[in-house]
Amino acid sequence: SRVDNPYAGAKVYVNPDWAAKANAEPGGNRISNQPTGVWMDRRAAIAGTSGARGLRAHLDTALQQGANLIQVVVYNLPGRDCSALASNGELGPNDLATYQSEFIDPIAAIFKDPKYANLRIVTVVEIDSLPNLITNVSPRPTATANCDTMKANGNYQKGIAYALKTLGAIPNVYNYIDIGHHGWIGWDDNFGPTADLLAQVGRDSGAMSNVHGFITNTANYGATTEPYFSINDNIAGKSVRESKWVDWNRYTDEQSYALAMRQRLIQAGFDSGIGMLIDTSRNGWGGSARPTGPGPQTSVDAYVDGGRLDRRIHLGNWCNQKGAGLGERPKAAPVAGIDAYVWMKPPGESDGASKEIPNDEGKGFDRMCDPTYTGNPRNNNNMSGALPDAPLSGHWFSAQFQELMRNAYPPL
Ligand code: BGC
Repeated sequence: SRVDNPYAGAKVYVNPDWAAKANAEPGGNRISNQPTGVWMDRRAAIAGTSGARGLRAHLDTALQQGANLIQVVVYNLPGRDCSALASNGELGPNDLATYQSEFIDPIAAIFKDPKYANLRIVTVVEIDSLPNLITNVSPRPTATANCDTMKANGNYQKGIAYALKTLGAIPNVYNYIDIGHHGWIGWDDNFGPTADLLAQVGRDSGAMSNVHGFITNTANYGATTEPYFSINDNIAGKSVRESKWVDWNRYTDEQSYALAMRQRLIQAGFDSGIGMLIDTSRNGWGGSARPTGPGPQTSVDAYVDGGRLDRRIHLGNWCNQKGAGLGERPKAAPVAGIDAYVWMKPPGESDGASKEIPNDEGKGFDRMCDPTYTGNPRNNNNMSGALPDAPLSGHWFSAQFQELMRNAYPPL
């Protein structure tokens, strides 16, 4: 009974809790009518927390809006966010049973209520987790102890397989799994192994049909397309792949990565009808620093650095990136194979605190969110590029929201 592309012709739920924060900002009413993801990021989020209604209330409000699609991010795995600290969660590495019975089961029980049967419920299942098991484990130089622990205990795969199976049993739920982004999984060593791991977890869930599609760039900053250089360009006798920025990656942007990964996932065993989502919430890179044409052909680095839209210091930077802007507004079926551009990360919500802030959400302090940090192997020891004075991940960050609007592309 599922449709091929749930976004086609859909009216997508606007989260009033986010809209209220956007509306409280000068100029925020230009975007507060946009649909954004609803994040179930801890058990308490199901019943509701201060400033955010619970899951049932979101679904009821969606019905009141006359919406027929709601986007819910399911994000609370045991040992969550193993390669970083800013979004560590409430569950320890061995809390699989708690995840199943106190998080996934209650969410499924709510989704199953017959009054929601005509809502298309898009779930984004556990971002960052499976890609971490490919790239941030021993013997790679990027390994972390927490990712090694999660690889050894298998609780990411078990948790995700359980979520896919339990939520996939509900006919109006559309599960999308995370494929990281091009600046993470776009290298040959990461690309195929990630697809194969995703396929294994799909099989572990009992049926490949539990997976409707995949999402790239969730809460990240990679440009949807880079119009001023291509992976096939050769400049001053060198391939673009040899530039410092591309660094032998096979892809230069999110859309080429998503479409190639789609083919590779089908080859790995997923249905040929799978569709992709791209999170365009913060990948616009507009404003006065935006290039208007290709860089000079004097060297491959000058060419790529002069022409790239993505103005990050390094592709591995992920926390509250300075200079970023809102990207393409949410849109169904922008190109064949892509189900939608979505704003899964609600613009204005922080990626992590710039300094240590005590909290009861399990959130740690990750120096990738500290603008003075000089980096680690996962960003090739570059500066973090983070904005200063950021609050805890998920908390409202007014200065970032304002910059995102200023640097929006297309402009507001
Ligand atoms: C945080 C979540 C938050 C989400 C959306 C994540 O980085 O860890 O708590 O809900 O971002 O802003």
